[in-house]
Amino acid sequence: RPRLSLQDSVQFLPGVGPGRAAALSKLGIETAGDLLEHLPMRYERRVCRTVENLDEGMTATIVGQITAVRQKGGRRGGSVSASLTDNTGRCSLRWFNASWVADRLQAGDIVRASGKVTEYRDAPQLVNPRFTILGEDAEPVDETAPAQFEAVYPATASIPSRVIAKLVTTNLDRLLEVTEELHTDEFRNARRLIPRRAAMEILHRPRESPLLDDARRRLAYDELLLLQLATTLVRRHNATTARAEPLKTTAVIDERIRLRFPFTLTAAQDRAVRAIVSDLEAPRPMNRLLQGDVGSGKTVVALYAALVAVANKCQAVIMAPTELLAEQHHRSMVEFLAGSRVRHCLLVGGMPARRRREVLSEIEGGSMDLVVGTQALIQHDVRFSRLALVVVDEQHRFGVRQRATIRSKGLAPHYLVMTATPIPRTLTMTVFGDLDVTTIDGLPPGRAGIVTRVATRNDHASVWKAARARLAAGEQVFVVYPLIDESDVLDMKAATTEHQRLSERVFPEYQVGLLHGRMTPVERDAVMGDFCAGRTHVLVSTTVVEVGIDVPNATAMVIEHAERYGLSQLHQLRGRVGRGDRKGYCFLMTDAPDHKIGRRLAVLARTTDGFKIAEEDLRLRGPGEMLGTRQHGLPELRVADLINDGDLLRLAQGDADDMIRADPHLCGKSFTALRNAVRNKYRERLGWFGVG
Ligand code: ADP
Ligand code: MG
Repeated sequence: RPRLSLQDSVQFLPGVGPGRAAALSKLGIETAGDLLEHLPMRYERRVCRTVENLDEGMTATIVGQITAVRQKGGRRGGSVSASLTDNTGRCSLRWFNASWVADRLQAGDIVRASGKVTEYRDAPQLVNPRFTILGEDAEPVDETAPAQFEAVYPATASIPSRVIAKLVTTNLDRLLEVTEELHTDEFRNARRLIPRRAAMEILHRPRESPLLDDARRRLAYDELLLLQLATTLVRRHNATTARAEPLKTTAVIDERIRLRFPFTLTAAQDRAVRAIVSDLEAPRPMNRLLQGDVGSGKTVVALYAALVAVANKCQAVIMAPTELLAEQHHRSMVEFLAGSRVRHCLLVGGMPARRRREVLSEIEGGSMDLVVGTQALIQHDVRFSRLALVVVDEQHRFGVRQRATIRSKGLAPHYLVMTATPIPRTLTMTVFGDLDVTTIDGLPPGRAGIVTRVATRNDHASVWKAARARLAAGEQVFVVYPLIDESDVLDMKAATTEHQRLSERVFPEYQVGLLHGRMTPVERDAVMGDFCAGRTHVLVSTTVVEVGIDVPNATAMVIEHAERYGLSQLHQLRGRVGRGDRKGYCFLMTDAPDHKIGRRLAVLARTTDGFKIAEEDLRLRGPGEMLGTRQHGLPELRVADLINDGDLLRLAQGDADDMIRADPHLCGKSFTALRNAVRNKYRERLGWFGVG
């Protein structure tokens, strides 16, 4: 066999093939090296037991006869349950969303089933167990067999952990053979790091080993170091080579821009403006992250920056993740720019083709100064003539890594990324290492604030009563549901059904609107228009309300199934009310007060400090989920954990700085392995600038 390279496509490893390669790719596994770095997220200790010896929480294998098989609900969203008995007792087996099980399994079959033991109606139950149908003469389980220690890999429905484990096992020797050490022994020993190859082997071939922690620590260190090196290199590259149009802000320009706003900027906004103004003056692209709570005044700061570009006879673009949000940005722009000569336009999907062609040609011809639209649209369609500033409003979404590629002639544009999810410091330092960060802390004056209450199903009556009180005062109410129809197994109340119930029973004398993601833009606009104008009083909505709506007269929000959201997301949602001079009310409804997020909902009742909430969210859910990274191109950390690996992170940061100080491009011989590792890992994701 030819020697394997970690850069080889995973498809050519024994056991993979095109189908599995596609499934692996969804997990970010493209190369053989990616598979090696796809580490188990935990290990399962699996024991063999008779039914009477099953304990809740253990992962066990049992053998017995199936006595009944039942299918509940439809083929989609239903469940299959079966009973298994051995000589010692009865255990129930239950599979969700797996109607195929009912086709495969029959009463009388002797089965080996394996899964986590829970309790259901005082009897043990295995949920979604794996099973094998055995022959008549199958042996009973051997309870004295040693426990199996099994790796559980991050997986998807199309490629389960077990299959990944098999692929890894099949290929591990060859993969380890080509795993290179990145550091000298001296360097490793000084940091108590075990060899890289040993670390890989320990993690992928699990035993009950005291070295598991050391192995994890070694790989976490490497991961953090490589990320740190990559971001530092990119940052240096940007600082030294990319060129941008310098945009001057004279006193006259500054005064003219400020006159556009019917208020004075807050101290925090002023600080942000100063930082941006000084970035823009330089002949290098600005790369700045502007973070601040919902309503803290980021958009105003972004508009300031855009007007600086326009004053310098350049174009600026503001990109939003959704049409609703783009429309809202444009609305406030129209307001602030009334009577000015700035030519601006909105570019969204629903535009008539003719108008769209006109606008596109105006942008390309340079007669359009300021463009607002969705990121998708602008990246696809638009060609600018002299684009100097790109503002990316991501709200809670993170596309920072997939730096928007904009078709533009000439120099690189300045970038300003806005986010309303305050990002804990540990994250900004690692993950956004190539961005400068400005934080707008504190809200503009005159906000009456928001009262937040956590409530359960039993409190619904009092919550609706409180909502009615707001309606009686002439104010408006949001009711937010996480889903739009009833198909989900989780049996959540769907917005559509609830809309009907609320309008008929709960608020019969008020108009209740319904807004959800499957409406056409025209329908949505109509619904929003009605709510904004006060023609509807209650708006039942799925989460689309989150980014899009700014209705000062809406003062209360009821969020159903609040435990389904992250804390940061809830914080943003509630930011829709209580923004004006009237107090806001937010009711977080949960039927799962014991759910780990349900329990933490109280944090929202205690504080409105987005940073505290984000920290808590990060602790609860980890950075991946908190930031919704998978889809948004943030380099995910497979091993390191930004909450618990703070010390390791600082160590890696210090080392990365030292290395780059000693050898700015890592071209020296002693860095060959590291340089290759950084290049291989980040070539595509960060863009590689030909180190060495
Ligand atoms: P964000 O983009 O951070 O959510 P916006 O820039 O949209 O915040 O501002 C929220 C609201 O506060 C808007 O209605 C805006 O006009 C208003 N606002 C912004 N800055 C100030 C200020 N300095 N003083 C008073 N109101 C302000
Ligand atoms: Mg905003």
